[in-house]
Amino acid sequence: MQFSTDKNFALAADREDPLKSFRSQFCIPKRGGKELVYFCGNSLGLEPKNVEKFIARELKTWQDKAVEGHFSGKNPWVDYHKFLRPLIAQIAGATEKEVVVANSLTVNLHLLLTTFYRPKGKKKKILVEHLPFSSDWYAFEAHAKLHGYDPKDIIEEIKPKPGSYYLSTEKIIETIEKQEGEIALIVLGGINYLTGQAFDLSAIALAARKRNILFGLDLAHAIGNIPLKLHDWEVDFAVWCSYKYLNAGPGGVGGYFIHEKHATNSELPRLAGWWGNNEKTRFKMEKGFDPIPTAEGWQLSNAPVLSMAAQWSALEIFQKAGMEKVREKSIALTGYLEYLLNEHIINKGDNLNLKILTPKNPEARGCQLSLSIQKDALKAYKAISEAGFIVDYREPDIIRVAPTPLYNQFIEVFRFVNFLKAL
Ligand SMILES: *Cc1c(COP(=O)(O)O)cnc(C)c1O
Repeated sequence: MQFSTDKNFALAADREDPLKSFRSQFCIPKRGGKELVYFCGNSLGLEPKNVEKFIARELKTWQDKAVEGHFSGKNPWVDYHKFLRPLIAQIAGATEKEVVVANSLTVNLHLLLTTFYRPKGKKKKILVEHLPFSSDWYAFEAHAKLHGYDPKDIIEEIKPKPGSYYLSTEKIIETIEKQEGEIALIVLGGINYLTGQAFDLSAIALAARKRNILFGLDLAHAIGNIPLKLHDWEVDFAVWCSYKYLNAGPGGVGGYFIHEKHATNSELPRLAGWWGNNEKTRFKMEKGFDPIPTAEGWQLSNAPVLSMAAQWSALEIFQKAGMEKVREKSIALTGYLEYLLNEHIINKGDNLNLKILTPKNPEARGCQLSLSIQKDALKAYKAISEAGFIVDYREPDIIRVAPTPLYNQFIEVFRFVNFLKAL
């Protein structure tokens, strides 16, 4: 797409946007009656207008049928997770046997570390990206301790060059090669939450597999943002939350992926619960766990139906839009944001001392750009926010801006950068 600083470019791009009708399916937040420019889908995705209908349907079943809602009605609750499965499988690039909508991200990470972190002798390290999310750190530390290790000896961060945030694929693979006999597991964020860098998951999965190292992912910032092919890449497992790009609502139900080659293996140890047990004997209430030979075999509890109803409504929007189309617009929209920041601010020798931390290559990022504002970042953030642009701020000087293709417009990006320029 050939960008231009002319306002008419933004207006034309919005007019010609094949996804333009989707914006009206979301509730755009307002302040003082005026719509805000919401670039915070990386933190909490907007509410689809249909969520109320989806939740109301289940409330009605609860009102009218009570306990019988588990087994009767249009969407019997015992099977509720199954209704979402084909939709999430498409977004994750997985088969239906490999995915489940369940729990929250950190819970799922603990569940899958229990199964997939199996240190043996010298092969005991967990290799992680530079600056993983805090909750992931805590989970890695917890599992190191559960195995009787000091986390310092177990968790190894792949470090970028000093002064840089960028982790090249070569550096990651080189680290894997160098320590191949010591690494039990690699866990990366598909996209790093802070820098917005997307990793070359296919290449890293291959490098890990060649060396018999398991490879897991935290997809909090990747799912619903970039196309994923978890099955074909042969990632071993992945976990995600769905309240960011998948619009499941605050604290919404997350999900996980387990590659078929593991999901069908009933011998794998796990933290078991009755919803992971063979459906035929689930209600016999007997001892002796008999796992479902799919990713469902890691389920613990019966489905949180109201939370899943919200996720269902959002997943239907993704199905209608198509992840390829979403990504196509995303590349254009974020590319336009980058272009305007360069044209109006960075190349002009600005007084904010603004830098883009996120890689330039669209393949190495999703929709988010992380901006470092080396002069008075917090003050700048407050001014941005007061002017009606919702972005987020991370210590010490990072502002994350995520134009989200399903509901953001080119004209919003235009207005944002023109505001920053004036600032
Ligand atoms: C948002 C986020 C989480 C959140 O975890 P929850 O258990 O859903 O609260 C975890 N990891 C990453 C990388 C995140 O961005």
